[in-house]
Amino acid sequence: MTTLQATTIPFVDLTRQHQPIAEQMRAAYDRVMLEGSFTLGTEVDAFEAEFASFLGARYAVGVGSGTDALHLALRACGVGEGDEVITAVNTFAATAEAIVMCGATPVFADIDPATYLIDPDAVEDAVTERTKAIIPVHLYGQCADMERIGAIARKHDLKVIEDACQAHGASTKGLMAGTAGDAGCFSFYPSKNLGAAGDGGMIVTNDDAVAARTRLLRNHGEDGQRLHLEPGYCSRLHGMQAALLRVKLRELPKWNDMRAAAASQYVAALSGSSAVLPTIAPGARHVFHLFVVQVAERDRFRQALDRRHVQTAVHYPVPLHLEPAFTGLGYRPGQFPVAEAATSRIVSLPMFPYMTEDELQRTVEAVLEATDD
Ligand SMILES: *Cc1c(COP(=O)(O)O)cnc(C)c1O
Repeated sequence: MTTLQATTIPFVDLTRQHQPIAEQMRAAYDRVMLEGSFTLGTEVDAFEAEFASFLGARYAVGVGSGTDALHLALRACGVGEGDEVITAVNTFAATAEAIVMCGATPVFADIDPATYLIDPDAVEDAVTERTKAIIPVHLYGQCADMERIGAIARKHDLKVIEDACQAHGASTKGLMAGTAGDAGCFSFYPSKNLGAAGDGGMIVTNDDAVAARTRLLRNHGEDGQRLHLEPGYCSRLHGMQAALLRVKLRELPKWNDMRAAAASQYVAALSGSSAVLPTIAPGARHVFHLFVVQVAERDRFRQALDRRHVQTAVHYPVPLHLEPAFTGLGYRPGQFPVAEAATSRIVSLPMFPYMTEDELQRTVEAVLEATDD
């Protein structure tokens, strides 16, 4: 006798998106192997041009990771020793790490309870005479309030570096994520909406000086004519990653639509449940890097889904001011009440292009059962 074992619904499956484009991916691999430009080179140049054009930005500069994109963009915007940079307390650790890499101090701001995005009022409250820049984080695939953050930056003469690592193709009031500030930073970590077969990142900007300086910094301070103008970094986007990403960039709008369609199905099916569903800000195009809901008893909820073979995750389980890496900044529990309250209730449901109807249905049923008190 055979027992019927339910197949697990993965939190994310990175292989399905490759099946329909497998041939183009192999052709990209062959091109790079034949040509032999492995770090920067023709594929990187072409991908930079295509990514800039996709976003409507003047320049795109390929680097080694999203973290490096933030680090080099901050440096190119003049952030250094003694400066303060304001960012969201509920972001991925890399945002704050990039600030520390510049010798600057991360200053955290609380979030909007409905969108989980950095609260412009909290940003304004955090400005001091040492503040040099703001990093709004377009968390989960939705843009922060760039109108209000831009106004605060102009008032206090601050730079704005967007962390768009979760927001490839998102927009707010017609502005693409990454193009509203002085620089926009993207990650091509495999699980992002546009993911490489390894690490990669991109800085986009309309500013000549930021583009020129980040091009120097990513490649040992070299000016393109064998002269090293300053000590830089080794953070080049690889030709192989660029070639593969060029193929995937053409699919990105479709993949984002698939994510949005899955999100709509979740919302329609769960609107009667006690789970708090994502809020989309007016004028926003949310690209659902993550589909995050709030539930009352999060750990019990996750166990219930686990028993029904539905994988979940938490983004993020500890706000940065309480992470061991940042305790040196001197924050205490209770200083960011909105983010801290959300942290114990948030849970991310499976979300990726090519999720099947059956997987969505089974996830919905598991959520309904687990929230039915
Ligand atoms: C992924 C991510 C980063 C860092 O990207 P890496 O490519 O992993 O260095 C930075 N910020 C946010 C919000 C991210 O999600």
